[in-house]
Amino acid sequence: MKILVAVKRVVDYNVNVRIKSDHTAVDTTHVKMSMNPFDEIAIEEAVRLKEKGLVNDIVAVSCGVTQCQETLRTALALGADRAILVESTAELQPLAVAKLLKAIVDKEHPDMIILGKQAIDDDCHQVGQMLAALMDRPQVTCASKVVIEAKDKATVTREMDGGLETLCVTLPAVITTDLRLNEPRYVTLPNIIKARKKPLQIITPEDLGVNVVSHIKTLKVTEPLERKAGIKVADVASLVAKLKSQGYLNLGATP
Ligand code: AMP
Repeated sequence: MKILVAVKRVVDYNVNVRIKSDHTAVDTTHVKMSMNPFDEIAIEEAVRLKEKGLVNDIVAVSCGVTQCQETLRTALALGADRAILVESTAELQPLAVAKLLKAIVDKEHPDMIILGKQAIDDDCHQVGQMLAALMDRPQVTCASKVVIEAKDKATVTREMDGGLETLCVTLPAVITTDLRLNEPRYVTLPNIIKARKKPLQIITPEDLGVNVVSHIKTLKVTEPLERKAGIKVADVASLVAKLKSQGYLNLGATP
């Protein structure tokens, strides 16, 4: 079986994000960039399936600037077999990424495509769903357990607001990862060195015949409103009085 995993380069989750002074975008100058955390989970899941002997080829794909090669090298160090960078300096919206991934799927014919449920930079939560629609194949989002039953069948449990839902899908299918699917391993130094020798192919959207021109224009990016400082109250009675005065409690009110 072959698995394609989409990995996005994003601002590291520990970084305090700042906005450019002209409010056009997030300032990424001298900022630590990392693999999107949900995509680390996606790679980990593919590697675990390979370790179980169910998968023999893991292809990591990233779309974006030249520096995405670093993210792909991390994916290779984590256990992917080869990598593809679709290099572009354009601002890639989810639909453009989904179209690029679809074009790669058409070339690679993977049995399963695993993506993160969302990228922590734009929080769009869209690419997996759009890709499945473009492929006209089944999708399971927010997966917390993946079991491959046969070459063309998988059982996937997904997390929902009220509990868990278990679905059976025919493969090829698109799966997006949730936090509880697994705990990704750390990259080891020997594996980083080994990863340097693994194949990394660089192509362009033009090579894939995909137009990545965006239909959405970012008008303004602003920081969230600053939270006002809290206050300390002496006891429960004053807390209740304070909440009532702010309109948060309406105890004893007749309907
Ligand atoms: P989003 O819909 O933007 O929140 O992203 C969902 C998932 O799509 C991410 O977790 C990645 O697996 C994948 N993805 C999004 N953008 C890219 C990109 N530029 N390159 C590779 N994968 C991406």
